[in-house]
Amino acid sequence: MMMPTAADAPYIELYNSGELEERAKRLERRLALCDICPRNCRVNRLEGELGYCHSGKEPIVASYCDHHGEEPPVSGSRGSGTIFFGNCNLRCVFCQNHQISQDWQAQECNRVSVNDLADFMLKLQEKSCHNINLVSPSHFVPQFVSALNLAIPRGLKIPIVYNTNSYDSPDTLRELNGIISIYLPDLKYADDENAKRYSDAAGYSRHARTAIKEMFNQAGGLVTGAGGIAVRGVLVRHLVLPGNIAGTRQCLAWLANEVSNEVGLSLMSQYHPCHRAFKYPELTGIVEAGEYVKALRQVKELGFKKTYIQGLGSPRVYLPDFNKEKPFED
Ligand code: SF4
Repeated sequence: MMMPTAADAPYIELYNSGELEERAKRLERRLALCDICPRNCRVNRLEGELGYCHSGKEPIVASYCDHHGEEPPVSGSRGSGTIFFGNCNLRCVFCQNHQISQDWQAQECNRVSVNDLADFMLKLQEKSCHNINLVSPSHFVPQFVSALNLAIPRGLKIPIVYNTNSYDSPDTLRELNGIISIYLPDLKYADDENAKRYSDAAGYSRHARTAIKEMFNQAGGLVTGAGGIAVRGVLVRHLVLPGNIAGTRQCLAWLANEVSNEVGLSLMSQYHPCHRAFKYPELTGIVEAGEYVKALRQVKELGFKKTYIQGLGSPRVYLPDFNKEKPFED
């Protein structure tokens, strides 16, 4: 087998120079007093102590598969090689992935080694997926970088997508510079009170905005290549919530004015009440057509160049079931 070259993926150069291994070691050391995400729990994950994300030394992979339901530049024709990490550093009351993100005891059986994680990436590449798509990776960045360091000499060469809730630490993101080709961050809220109430995410808007700026500094606007597949850049997701809970107008204006309208924008209408949303009367409906159309109008006014939108009948279409081998199959 031929060793991939830097022309295949930017991270190969980091591997060849030894920089990737250095970063893996640096990140692993930080697990001893964990400050990998803004929660800054300071627990020793290497010794089995658990912080807010209930995740120790080993990665937890709830599911991995080729996924055809992401935005077209991510899924393409051959699917995106999604790796769904178990547990999360947020507690969104309406999380559609709550089976794997918030039931940490059930996730214990999904603990794997970094070697297994490297295997999963290689299997997804063998399936001809366009990319490796790390879903909710914020609390497992050190484990991912170590796995990447093992997968490259075994032939991994496809681009990496970092698919995040954006509650990320800028120091951790800086370690991913030159590794991640496509950043796929959420911009969930404009208002910190709502972020705290519905996701237990204190200071979300500051942390997410800092993180998205760092991603843009690294990867720039969204660039697509042959077949419309994302080659590099930032593609921001914004889920419109009922009753303007997400602060859609402020989120979009900030993104265009303080980052760039060159970022890709995925404006999502798929909100569907699930998990603990039923305890909040304001979250029990779906997004009204008028709310979504108003947001679409603003997207046009702000001049976003690459936008991805959803039909208004989408809320049920995108609901996964992680008890199935392919959670999004239906
Ligand atoms: S990654 Fe987990 S343990 Fe570390 S700071 Fe974040 S929530 Fe806490």
